[in-house]
Amino acid sequence: MNTQRSEALFVRAQELIPGGVNSPVRACRNVHADPLFIAEGHGSHLTTVDGEEVIDFLGSWGPMLVGHAHPQVTEAICKAAMRGTSYGAPCADEVRLAEEVCAALPSVEMVRMVNSGTEATMSALRLARGVTGRDKLIKFIGGYHGHGDAFLASAGSGVATFSIPGTPGVPAATVADTLLAPYNDLDVVRTLFEAHPEEIAAVFVEPVAGNMGLILPQPGFLKGLRDLCTRYGALLVFDEVITGFRLSYAGAQGRFGILPDLTTFGKIIGGGLPVGAYGGRADLMRHVAPEGEVYQAGTLSGNPLAMAAGLATLDILKHSDYAALEAKVHSFVMELEAILRSKGVSVQIPHIASLFTVYFTEAALMDFESVRTTDQKLFESFYKQMRAQGIFMAPSAFEANMLSFAHSNEDFARALEAAENVKF
Ligand SMILES: *Cc1c(COP(=O)(O)O)cnc(C)c1O
Repeated sequence: MNTQRSEALFVRAQELIPGGVNSPVRACRNVHADPLFIAEGHGSHLTTVDGEEVIDFLGSWGPMLVGHAHPQVTEAICKAAMRGTSYGAPCADEVRLAEEVCAALPSVEMVRMVNSGTEATMSALRLARGVTGRDKLIKFIGGYHGHGDAFLASAGSGVATFSIPGTPGVPAATVADTLLAPYNDLDVVRTLFEAHPEEIAAVFVEPVAGNMGLILPQPGFLKGLRDLCTRYGALLVFDEVITGFRLSYAGAQGRFGILPDLTTFGKIIGGGLPVGAYGGRADLMRHVAPEGEVYQAGTLSGNPLAMAAGLATLDILKHSDYAALEAKVHSFVMELEAILRSKGVSVQIPHIASLFTVYFTEAALMDFESVRTTDQKLFESFYKQMRAQGIFMAPSAFEANMLSFAHSNEDFARALEAAENVKF
């Protein structure tokens, strides 16, 4: 694969942008590779600045569930742009998107639009603290909720990838109220509640963990969290920034039938534009300013282009066959696993809906500790060989691949063919 132009751009970028990238994981450092610079995306394919076409298994880390440059989404964005890009006053599409989100998610009665998943979780935390009058939160080790200070204790992927236990720049006092538990470990959560029965404002959880690679919730885990939160008067917050509109049109909560008090969104609801949102029970959301006293604002929140892109995306998804995509991904994953196994390596590929991660291990994967024991060298080798053959996958063993409705049987066949050629 020709990468001359990518390399040249990366050299210049590193002089101008820290690490040459505007979000750390894009630098591919975990797999000791350089990033590919992308010129175009259409459907399930990306074209690099060197004119190389690759099959995209990363989906921009989540937003591109309908594929790149879907004509319906592109048209909606273009039309919106012709009408102006920001008004600083409400527009009709904000109401329409709020209606769609509230109709789709069983627990969401009111919603506030923001500009990223990070903003959504930060705002949901402030609301949870404001409403309960409590300061502490519980999050899971390896769970990622954006880069808000309070969440940067033992956050997954980007942070974990670089083995930074948190980050400089976050005062110890800021994470002092962040209590940590291993994913899938209800006993630790129960112990934390018993130790702080009236101090915990909220439990933040990815209902399917997608930032330590893909880790599924054990049966009873989410229900157990629901029960503990109810018993101790804490709010259960589902971070559905990845799972919202992906696990099902009704998110993870619709799929698992567990209702959180608050939900955060991002990625898919912006159709590839910068959007986040948080929502939930109306009696809680009414505490947000200006109706309530919990302040949160944004110059570009509810941006007309982003709303148009989100609405167009949800309109496509509403008529998409999630079960068919899941079945395709399932059979692909089973074949991929068999191919890799036949090469004598230990491998397992947890998957759900259109998400999967390739882990090189036999160990049971329950939490971040177990993910850390997977074979990184094998992963790096696998990643590089797949990429060299035009299969663009998540560049870290701590990330999930995110497939789309645009992926064709031929895409999957080509990926399997590439896997056949991998040598360990
Ligand atoms: C990506 C992500 C975020 C942060 O969203 P940004 O738009 O990158 O700020 C929060 N939570 C989860 C679960 C995510 O995957």
